[in-house]
Amino acid sequence: MRPATSLPLREELRGIEPYGAPQLDVSVQLNVNENPYPPSRAVVDDIAQAVAEAAGRLNRYPDREFVALREGLAAYLGHGVGPEQVWAANGSNEVMLHLLQAFGGPGRTALSFAPTYSMYPEYARDTHTAWEVGHRDEDFGLDVDRAVALVRERRPHVVLLPSPNNPTGTALPPAAITALCAVLDGGLLVVDEAYAEFRRAGTPSALELLPAHPNLVVTRTMSKAFALAGARLGYLAASAEVCDALRVVRLPYHLSATTQAVAQAALRHADELLGAVDLLREERDHTVDWLRDQGLRVADSDANFVLFGTFGDPHAVWQGLLDHGVLIREIGPQGWLRVSVGTPAEMAAFREALTAVTKEMSR
Ligand code: PMP
Repeated sequence: MRPATSLPLREELRGIEPYGAPQLDVSVQLNVNENPYPPSRAVVDDIAQAVAEAAGRLNRYPDREFVALREGLAAYLGHGVGPEQVWAANGSNEVMLHLLQAFGGPGRTALSFAPTYSMYPEYARDTHTAWEVGHRDEDFGLDVDRAVALVRERRPHVVLLPSPNNPTGTALPPAAITALCAVLDGGLLVVDEAYAEFRRAGTPSALELLPAHPNLVVTRTMSKAFALAGARLGYLAASAEVCDALRVVRLPYHLSATTQAVAQAALRHADELLGAVDLLREERDHTVDWLRDQGLRVADSDANFVLFGTFGDPHAVWQGLLDHGVLIREIGPQGWLRVSVGTPAEMAAFREALTAVTKEMSR
């Protein structure tokens, strides 16, 4: 920590550490829900070609409206979503910031239900939006009646709900989304589907509900199932009016020409990039079963990570795993830990390390 200075820093930012999971050079990295499979040579070559073409025009600003990319994302999403209903930015983090810049702000409130994605309160802070949290059930599901009652009482302008939820992996039933859209008179419901492609069979996407609810926003990202975290491309589907509002608050040319080129090339290879999703879902289910066989509590997961516990000293377990070369995430309710789903070899290393650590700790 640097010594306090006389900088005119906003009071609420004093002493705050920047957000971020540790980026450590460890052989098995299962801490930030990345897709462990890098793009193939053919995809890399096509992305490189697209970037080379964009590079030849880097003296010019990129298409501010990223029309071609919007068309590609709309086609990928399906569900009758048109390009004018799509917005994109540098990661869904930035998409969410745009939403709060346009629909939050001083005198306004954003609400979520804990445990929830740990970045939301930071977007609220940075946009001067008041932040409120309700609570999920014991099993991390949402009690719809209680949630509706809280929204009725607090009248938030924006409700942020990840589905599947991070850090628990829990997906929202469509009835919950419908009920919250109905009670949010004049407010927006943002369903953050960063992990949607990993959901179990029979779990619907909130995209199906878009036509019926003009105050519903569904956010997605290329960082997870698409295996493109390094490209920084997040997007959403909503009404054209919502997208037009976001055009007002974004920085000019916020999506660089190279980002647009990379994302469009990735969309051309969507099938291949998403090819590991089934494998990851199988590995996730296997991880859930194995952890339960060890006598641990494990949240049902529709995502590419698993929340498990409970431990009296979760930090000691996290550190023990790290000492065995396996990096997971200390996050979530007290006593729980989260592991991202990696390759079969990485998950074998995780199981071996956890077995060793729990044995060492019980001595
Ligand atoms: N939403 C949720 C629920 C997440 O877990 C994450 C990333 N961990 C994001 C949004 C942001 O992802 P990105 O900015 O890479 O799209």
